[in-house]
Amino acid sequence: MRINDEYGKLPGSYLFAETARRTKAYEAAHPDQDVIRLGIGDVTQPLVPAVISAMHAAVDEMGVRETFRGYGPDFGYDFLVNAIREHDYMPLGIDLAYDEVFVSDGAKSDVGNIQELFAPGAVIAVTDPVYPVYVDSNAMSGRAGSYVKDRWDRLVYLPCNAENQFVPPVPDRPVDVVYLCYPNNPTGTVLTKAQLKVFVDWAREHEAIIIYDAAYKAFITEKDIPHSIYEVEGAKEVAIECCSYSKTAGFTGTRCAYTVVPHSVKGLNSAGEKVELNAMWKRRMSTKFNGVSYPVQRAAAAIYTPEGKAQVQAVIDGYLKNAQVIREGLTKLGMEVYGGVNSPYVWLKVPSGMDSWSFFDLLLDRCHVVGTPGAGFGPSGEGYFRLTAFNTLEKTEEAVSRLKLLF
Ligand code: PLP
Repeated sequence: MRINDEYGKLPGSYLFAETARRTKAYEAAHPDQDVIRLGIGDVTQPLVPAVISAMHAAVDEMGVRETFRGYGPDFGYDFLVNAIREHDYMPLGIDLAYDEVFVSDGAKSDVGNIQELFAPGAVIAVTDPVYPVYVDSNAMSGRAGSYVKDRWDRLVYLPCNAENQFVPPVPDRPVDVVYLCYPNNPTGTVLTKAQLKVFVDWAREHEAIIIYDAAYKAFITEKDIPHSIYEVEGAKEVAIECCSYSKTAGFTGTRCAYTVVPHSVKGLNSAGEKVELNAMWKRRMSTKFNGVSYPVQRAAAAIYTPEGKAQVQAVIDGYLKNAQVIREGLTKLGMEVYGGVNSPYVWLKVPSGMDSWSFFDLLLDRCHVVGTPGAGFGPSGEGYFRLTAFNTLEKTEEAVSRLKLLF
């Protein structure tokens, strides 16, 4: 059997393995130190009561012949698809057709799988630093070229840094697909509607499409920040949007998400004809996916009830409070800090003269605090560092006071 050689070109998943290795070594050498983890990209609060009772009730239904369910609809149960349309989009003035919403087991699967719709030679642009799945999934299909030093030679990188206030430039060469993630992982920054419109206009003009990852939209607190790319005029012609219950409702271990593929998003086939990506995604999902389990979809739908909404918001508010503690604490220390207002991620500039890995070591050694070096998210992440709001308030406050002693 001949294998897909593209896998051999992937650099190891170095970042979290290496931070874990260094943390473990430190803990082994300093067993009495209480190490605080602000590198976590996973939620820590349990599922809310409304979700749990909906899931219990659905499990009970599965145990009774009359209400038992086998394979569900490939694209999601009506009750969830309609709740998404009604609660996530209608209030924004966005009307989605029933068959434009696809329920799935995660945004990671969707952003990773969507590349199957692109031509093998399609040119891909990513913001830099970046959530690595967009890059690696395209690399696995041979679209990223070769990995040379710190980057792929066929990818177009759109640098985001303090100099451009983390607003990516539109690609300066022909590109088929751009991945955008807002609120952003890892920088925690957002784009206003006007800034997003620049990308939508560019995509419409250049017949490109945008994969918009809105996994962190529940953390948006500021008024003029779009919760969906479809709030931007014309976006329905060029954008696919991926959303997730993982960070919205603590579903990282429960698994439920959805992707919106409007009928009006079209790509060109090799004969130059326009083809609906919605029809292609339907084909892909019905061929390779058998739906999310009934109890999990019931659990997801429970977050749209009045109690569910309030309970989930309280958890998000708790994480946002932690983000505020980090952001304000570090700002007071004179550090350059970004994100953390509409996001659980705080992105900081490491002190001059240091790189992001030496800052990791310094923080671990002197403050016993673990974060994530920016260099792990792409070449433009060097010189920056990510702290996350997913620990407890107490530990977050303790971590910030340790940093105060250091600086
Ligand atoms: N998209 C981004 C930007 C993420 O940071 C993550 C998880 O960390 C995901 C998607 C994954 O979402 P899910 O848990 O729904 O697969």
